[in-house]
Amino acid sequence: MMLSVQDTQTTIFDLVQPFNTEEDTEVVDFLAANSRILACPVTSQLDFPHWDNSAMDGYAVRYTDVQHANPQQPATLEIVEEIPAGYQPQFTIQSGQAARIFTGAVMPKGADTVVMQEQTRRKDNRVLILVAPKQQEFVRHRGSYYRAGAELLPAGIMLNAPEIAVLAAAQCSRVRVYRRPRVAILSIGDELVTANSPLQPGQIVDSNQYALTALVRQSGAEALMLGIIPDRVTVLTTAIAKALSQADIIVSSGGVSVGDYDCVEQAIQSLGGKIHVRTVAIKPGKPFTVATFPQTQTSCSKLYFGLPGNPAAVLVTFWRFVQPAIAKLSGLSNGWKPKFAKALTQSQLQADGKRETYIWGKLYLEDGEYKFQPAGGIQNSGNLINLVQTNAFAVLQPGQTFISVGEQVLVLQVS
Ligand code: AMP
Ligand code: MG
Repeated sequence: MMLSVQDTQTTIFDLVQPFNTEEDTEVVDFLAANSRILACPVTSQLDFPHWDNSAMDGYAVRYTDVQHANPQQPATLEIVEEIPAGYQPQFTIQSGQAARIFTGAVMPKGADTVVMQEQTRRKDNRVLILVAPKQQEFVRHRGSYYRAGAELLPAGIMLNAPEIAVLAAAQCSRVRVYRRPRVAILSIGDELVTANSPLQPGQIVDSNQYALTALVRQSGAEALMLGIIPDRVTVLTTAIAKALSQADIIVSSGGVSVGDYDCVEQAIQSLGGKIHVRTVAIKPGKPFTVATFPQTQTSCSKLYFGLPGNPAAVLVTFWRFVQPAIAKLSGLSNGWKPKFAKALTQSQLQADGKRETYIWGKLYLEDGEYKFQPAGGIQNSGNLINLVQTNAFAVLQPGQTFISVGEQVLVLQVS
């Protein structure tokens, strides 16, 4: 039975059990945690800021000394010290006194307010305050951003530059992250050879192995390149058994179209796998197998994706179904679903209206609007050149056969 794209997605997402906080984590140095997924919330050991400090270059004063200051009647204060950032103040500010202070420097005792230097005039070792500040103005108080014990980062987020900065500032040098999912990659087909083999008549390069490796790595997972498997059920069965012992997810390409349909299906069934999806109403990518292998004593249940052999169909089905599954497995609590946008098409788009059709091309921002330019020439799913620089697919729903230039189209964003 042919499933809709939506039903296929629902089936897959329901089958993915995200990583477990106990078993599927490791502790790493915080900088090495960049682009990893946080497995446990991070709590601060410190108040931040750690000291009352100045938010401006200016003068640290006692508010009561300057509250009535104005350009006609400035308040005159004696400067008792200069406090650059990084220094410990030596004096307590008494009434009639001020300290020259710089952004980020520690507030001296006695002072409660900073007057920005633009509202002062310097006269030797005295300063004239020309404008009354607000009480406590330009003071960043200890713990005003967060206090010790506060949650800084929730579990399930990816650690990028802002999060790395937060970890550094809070002196969290080691963090617990989810391990990277392991994805085994198999290419099935008697005609396939590796990229560096001379081509004999009838052979083609197994480009899918390399494309899938790049896709898997871009998804934050570890790629296990298990190579080329001939169109033989027994050999494939052995290869899948090996993949099951090493990986969380298995992705194969080829061996699922009508001619050799049985190869993947028979191998899966002989290993006790359960098939959930066989064909999907998607173009390209109709023969698309989803299976699960049951939990064993040493490992949890594993997902198998049998992609078609067609290079374009591999990209479409990976981006549409496999990448979100890897992202959900990896422990991301949000943002793992496919990303759709609306764009104005720059060329007319056509489909036969039978299946949900994915047309590759480029999504870009121009004059504040998203625009989509389909790849030129024939969108033949065997023609790889045509896929270069693809970063999005226009999606035409079943029944939708035509979208004219300048009209809005749904696009799947893939990078
Ligand atoms: P299949 O799904 O096995 O019938 O393959 C469909 C088409 O994709 C055929 O033209 C294959 O030669 C091609 N193909 C299959 N596997 C690969 C691969 N790993 N790399 C590149 N092209 C492939
Ligand atoms: Mg084949």
